[in-house]
Amino acid sequence: MEQMKKDIVVIGGGPGGLAAAVTAARAGKSVLLVERNGYLGGQLGSGLPFLAFLDWKKRQVIGGIAQEFVDRLAKVQGTYGHAYCPFHLSTTLIHPFYARIIAFQIVKEAGVEILLHSELTDVKVKDGRIESVTVTGKGFHVELQADVFIDGTGDGDLGYMAGAECHKGQDDTHVMQPPTLMFNLAGINFEEFYDFIEKHPEELPYGLNMQNLREGYDADFFRNNPSFVFFGMQKLLKRLREEGKCPVARDTIIFIRQPIPGEVAVNTIRLLNFDGSDVHDLSSGEMEAHLQIPLLIDMFRNYVPGFENCYLTSINSCIGVRESRRIVGEKMLDYHDCLKGLKPDDTIALCSYFLDIHNGAGEDTTGIRIEEPFGIPYLCLVSKDISNLMMAGRDISVDPVTFGATRIMNVCMAAGQAAGEAAAMAVSEGKLPKEVDVQELRKHLLEQKAILDV
Ligand SMILES: Cc1cc2nc3c(=O)[nH]c(=O)nc-3n(C[C@H](O)[C@H](O)[C@H](O)COP(=O)(O)OP(=O)(O)OC[C@H]3O[C@@H](n4cnc5c(N)ncnc54)[C@H](O)[C@@H]3O)c2cc1C
Repeated sequence: MEQMKKDIVVIGGGPGGLAAAVTAARAGKSVLLVERNGYLGGQLGSGLPFLAFLDWKKRQVIGGIAQEFVDRLAKVQGTYGHAYCPFHLSTTLIHPFYARIIAFQIVKEAGVEILLHSELTDVKVKDGRIESVTVTGKGFHVELQADVFIDGTGDGDLGYMAGAECHKGQDDTHVMQPPTLMFNLAGINFEEFYDFIEKHPEELPYGLNMQNLREGYDADFFRNNPSFVFFGMQKLLKRLREEGKCPVARDTIIFIRQPIPGEVAVNTIRLLNFDGSDVHDLSSGEMEAHLQIPLLIDMFRNYVPGFENCYLTSINSCIGVRESRRIVGEKMLDYHDCLKGLKPDDTIALCSYFLDIHNGAGEDTTGIRIEEPFGIPYLCLVSKDISNLMMAGRDISVDPVTFGATRIMNVCMAAGQAAGEAAAMAVSEGKLPKEVDVQELRKHLLEQKAILDV
């Protein structure tokens, strides 16, 4: 078996792992980033937008590497920048393929070594510390040693395999938010769609369980904003479900304008009672989700005004898992603190997004309003059980309600940046991650244009 030794090994190259690896390498450490796909960026390359770079008062709450990513996208016409939204606070479109290119650019420039097509297959732990991990690709095994390991798998695979305590789903039911396979459509007559929405405001989510919704989410907003994310059509879907003509178990349609003329990304497939960390669910889910696509396209063509001539242009490379494991950290963020907008002294990233909970066992979605951005404490990124394990991305230590907000990609990047910087400091100072001086870490993050207060 090949052996490699690095200062820091990051498993998973999505928004969290990518930001952590690049930040640690920029701090001068030797970093290896392992990714099971042939591309980097995870869900950044799926057609999804960044949400809530801004808060309700239109103050920017996330900077650092996430903003750098947007600036790089803007240079290649891969985004229109941050646009205020009365529903999602702000939307920032992402060209899915440029996102993957930029991910490679920043990794290469920072000097991060990469192992693609490689999946984590084994973890050796001694005395509560990861000694090595094994990754496997094409029947070839590589054993990796490092001072600090960062779990950027989204699903907390590394923490789980190391024996760290992990939580899944809601505390009482363990139901997890449902997955969605994203796909893109073109051939849409947008003017016809806006006219329909203007005549049928009951199709907008006013009246649904969405506290975050504010006035102004209407046909004119869609007409005048090239970065919109549409959420609604509940009356139509209710009728179609009753008539047996709706192929998905959800009460609303979501589609996202793309920075590609004429295209939208559809975020509407829903699979219920699904566990994204179970390969059996993933296997049947991929099949079921792909088979839902032509049925959904037929539904759009037949019943959604403006979509009569829509056609399929792409399908994301795999199903998107909203929720699976969260690794329990030295601290766990409680949603009561989020609702109060607390920003503790050890805040390493802010979040202003609402508590957005898609029901994994039913058709609805709940949105709980966040009035004031809240802070994510540093020790939510540090495993309580494994001394040299950190988390970057949606697997950080938060309760399942807070997770509804912290799972968004720019927050994953901001927390990933903090994890990468802290890991680099721990290596330089010969400390454990939990011993890192948080005020010094915050100073470094501010120098990197992170936003830690508003
Ligand atoms: C359908 C859907 C809609 C969403 N909508 C939005 C939205 O509009 N805006 C928004 O900001 N967020 C949205 N989110 C949430 C957001 O996309 C994710 O929470 C976020 O991408 C998580 O980042 P991450 O880095 O933790 O994980 P991911 O983006 O999932 O990346 C994890 C990476 O790790 C790799 N990996 C996983 N396991 C292993 C392993 N064992 N070995 C090696 N590599 C591995 C994966 O291939 C992947 O590249 C949505 C999520 C879904 C699924």
